[in-house]
Amino acid sequence: FDEEYDVIIVGSGFAGIACGIKCAEKGYKTLMIEKMGRIGGNSVINGGIFCVPQNDLQKKAGIKDSNELFIADCMKAGLGINHKELLETLAKRAHETYQFTLKYGAKYLDSLVHEGGHSVPRTYQTAVGSGAGIVLPLMERFEKMAGVALKTRTKFDDFVMDDAGRVIGILAREDYRFDSKLFSDDLENQGGTPKAFKATKAVMLASGGFCQDKYYRAVQDPRLTPSTDSTNHPGATAGVLLKAFGIGAVPVQVSWIQFGPWACPDEKGFGVGSMFNVNASFRYGISVDPKTGKRYMNELADRKIRADHMFAVIGKDENYPINLCDSQAIERLLPDHYEKALKAGILKKFNTLEELAQHYKMPVEAFKKTVTDYNSYVKAGKDPEFGKPTNMVDGITLSKAPFYAMRGTPKLHHTMGGLQINTQAQVIHSKTHQPIPGLYAAGEVTGGVHGASRLGSVAITDCLTFGMIAGENI
Ligand code: ADP
Repeated sequence: FDEEYDVIIVGSGFAGIACGIKCAEKGYKTLMIEKMGRIGGNSVINGGIFCVPQNDLQKKAGIKDSNELFIADCMKAGLGINHKELLETLAKRAHETYQFTLKYGAKYLDSLVHEGGHSVPRTYQTAVGSGAGIVLPLMERFEKMAGVALKTRTKFDDFVMDDAGRVIGILAREDYRFDSKLFSDDLENQGGTPKAFKATKAVMLASGGFCQDKYYRAVQDPRLTPSTDSTNHPGATAGVLLKAFGIGAVPVQVSWIQFGPWACPDEKGFGVGSMFNVNASFRYGISVDPKTGKRYMNELADRKIRADHMFAVIGKDENYPINLCDSQAIERLLPDHYEKALKAGILKKFNTLEELAQHYKMPVEAFKKTVTDYNSYVKAGKDPEFGKPTNMVDGITLSKAPFYAMRGTPKLHHTMGGLQINTQAQVIHSKTHQPIPGLYAAGEVTGGVHGASRLGSVAITDCLTFGMIAGENI
């Protein structure tokens, strides 16, 4: 071995940072490695929405919630194949996780987001409007803690095991240059200096999902082509996951890959448009088929239901749905969630509904009737057409000009499957059905929590909570 640590953490997103802080709190000599030039993976670029059942803001607003309701919502979206004991652990610990982030400098808005598929609003939004509002303050504190080392451009390649099957270290490469033009996690062609790192207590995997692994994702779902766009950072590949399978870790539900329904086809990736749809158009507005000028789904259904409906509208001729809201909705947004999109020209502003319809070549009268009908549903408190929970839209109708609209499309967002872990964040071995000694994992590299489809804003809860649990148990 070239260097020795107590704990080695692979990945610098939510899961890695939460584990890192817990280890450093105990005085462990902790190394975190990150293969990219910047820290934070998907965590730092995501929307920063963090689901906490039974939280303080709910109590203030008189919203009744329970752990059981949270679990039932997750299992409904997950088609019942979620590993329930992991969800129970999340529900029990989520509030503590939230407090842990506050302690280390994260800041949140004082109103809740209502994410699709949740029975009640139970989601915090970071004050800066993205995951950076958690990742950056926590990382800043982590880096200052005693005994901590962070190495970027350092890529995990393989495990080092002893004869008894315990993970005792890793092989990695420093000065590694990630090449996003490569199809997959190519071990041969990206250079760097090989090194062996010893981990006397544990190796913790927090390497995220594989939405950008153009080979492995297409093996799981052959409908995905190399050009299928994703909201993820380019380094979201399957290399670590496959190496863990190689030492006996159990794969869980690896072919369930989620599309985020709130992206925009007129920009790449997560972009600057996604949060407009997450926070405004879907909740306070509607999504319409431009061919008919009509709604076609419950805009607050879970992600899988929405993505499936959107793909049906898009069809073969790229007939992208139009997501829209009025000024009352925009007034509730953080400036970051619409100003950048306006500037980029993907979000458009219209003085009248007619103007909006004409711009997107929609049948004007049909579209106006859609809006009138929708407004009447909001007023009546019931959407007989699609069952949108109108009690969650705060009485906001599409009525105050100007109106705002964006073309919408689902993009690859989250891989639900991964490594099997127990409630202690230990990775399970396929032969013994017992933990692989010395190996922990948390976050998107693991599977089971979300079943077939993850509810929005539960990723942060999952990654941080199991990251924290890994750190506690190492
Ligand atoms: P999570 O939300 O599960 O914490 P993220 O995507 O936020 O996941 O973070 C995972 C991080 O792990 C990313 O920054 C990614 O670049 C990094 N990573 C993935 N594979 C490797 C590897 N082989 N070596 C080092 N870091 C890796």
